[in-house]
Amino acid sequence: MNQTIYDVVIVGAGPAGGQAARNLSKKGHKVLLVEKYKDFGENDFSSAGMTLEPLKEFDLPNTIIGSYWNDIEIQCSEKKYSWKSSTKKGVVLDFKKLRQFLADDSINNGAEVLMGHKYLSKKVSKDLVTLSILNTFSSTIIEVKTKLVIDATGPLRKVMYDDKEEQPQMVLGSGTEYVIKVEQEVYDRFKNKLVFFLGHKWAIKGYSWIFPMENRILKVGAGKTHIKSVDQEETNATTKKITEKIIEEYIQSKEFSIIDKHGGILRYSQGIKDLFYKNKVIAIGDSVSAINPRGGEGIRYAMQTADLASLYIQKYLKTEIEDFYGYRKKWRRKKLLKWRLSEFSARRMYSRYTDKQIENRIKFFHQKFDIDDMIDSLFNFKYNQLFIRVVQLMLLKLTYFIKGQKF
Ligand SMILES: Cc1cc2nc3c(=O)[nH]c(=O)nc-3n(C[C@H](O)[C@H](O)[C@H](O)COP(=O)(O)OP(=O)(O)OC[C@H]3O[C@@H](n4cnc5c(N)ncnc54)[C@H](O)[C@@H]3O)c2cc1C
Repeated sequence: MNQTIYDVVIVGAGPAGGQAARNLSKKGHKVLLVEKYKDFGENDFSSAGMTLEPLKEFDLPNTIIGSYWNDIEIQCSEKKYSWKSSTKKGVVLDFKKLRQFLADDSINNGAEVLMGHKYLSKKVSKDLVTLSILNTFSSTIIEVKTKLVIDATGPLRKVMYDDKEEQPQMVLGSGTEYVIKVEQEVYDRFKNKLVFFLGHKWAIKGYSWIFPMENRILKVGAGKTHIKSVDQEETNATTKKITEKIIEEYIQSKEFSIIDKHGGILRYSQGIKDLFYKNKVIAIGDSVSAINPRGGEGIRYAMQTADLASLYIQKYLKTEIEDFYGYRKKWRRKKLLKWRLSEFSARRMYSRYTDKQIENRIKFFHQKFDIDDMIDSLFNFKYNQLFIRVVQLMLLKLTYFIKGQKF
């Protein structure tokens, strides 16, 4: 039994948990960060592509960057569309190094980090929460006491909901990714750009991708939404197959080696109906559906929920007044509409459109959008430009119709 009473125990050292530990330890709180894996290399599952803004927003060092990208390419079943830039537009992070950095920074601020420790259960009393945690090195169970516990376990929401407790209805998805080492000339074809695949030839109910990492290393993967049923094995097999098809038939590297294969799941509640706080447990990151439902970008939003929640946690630790309602309300006000629109667009693109419809849509974006418009649409979910262009197109169609001409 650890005799220390922590201000906060954070379960899960992903981007959300690591960022919360960093924030709260910096403010002088007694923080413990608990992660079930012994090493961040064991669950290095995220492609971690993003724009440049999060580097500044979270004061992240260059040492965690795998590569920069300037261009975006969308390969449909038939044609390829490119948006080019002469300057850097984003990064592909080294996901392992990102989480290691957040944990190390927290330790530098005075936090404790327990790797290889798995949260099992909680008991909540009037003033404290007692957590049972399995030390996976020694297979012993330790008990830890804390004033507040943060659920940062990602899509599983392990702390907020006990094993048998019912969770809100979730939409499910999954992804497979291979990290491969290729010949220099092959890498040179894919460096400096993010390649996305849409349509039924190179993706299944989702999209696939090739992201560059450091010299000669590529991340190749496929993600799939499961609108109706989930047969995890069948789905993983299919995202795995499509990833291998891209490596063999699209990249066509003659001598590649596989450095790592990994996968992960996505589970979010439509309309962000999650519990954000209950009975001394506050949830952040994918545990409150922070991930964007269209592109599956979740790192920036996981870290944003950590920043927002940290403000409410600090207030609670000062006043002991349980007022977390504003945390949920503010987050939903900021993201709900954008996430709903993202979901609407994802459902059409991934599940309903034919190859021809996808091709036409991307062709339209290619004619009307420059790279910054694309980044706004793909990463910042700013739909106003898109909305204006669609209205313009409808007006044009109407004019043709009134004149009795064919559009
Ligand atoms: C294949 C794939 C590709 C992706 N690509 C991108 C991308 O390009 N860009 C992007 O922004 N996002 C991407 N994402 C999404 C992004 O990785 C997640 O949204 C983000 O990692 C969520 O952060 P989190 O901290 O909330 O949860 P997680 O990163 O899932 O972290 C949760 C942590 O909790 C730990 N944990 C779970 N249960 C316990 C327990 N019982 N005890 C102790 N620890 C526990 C887990 O081991 C894990 O380390 C991708 C996701 C997948 C699956």
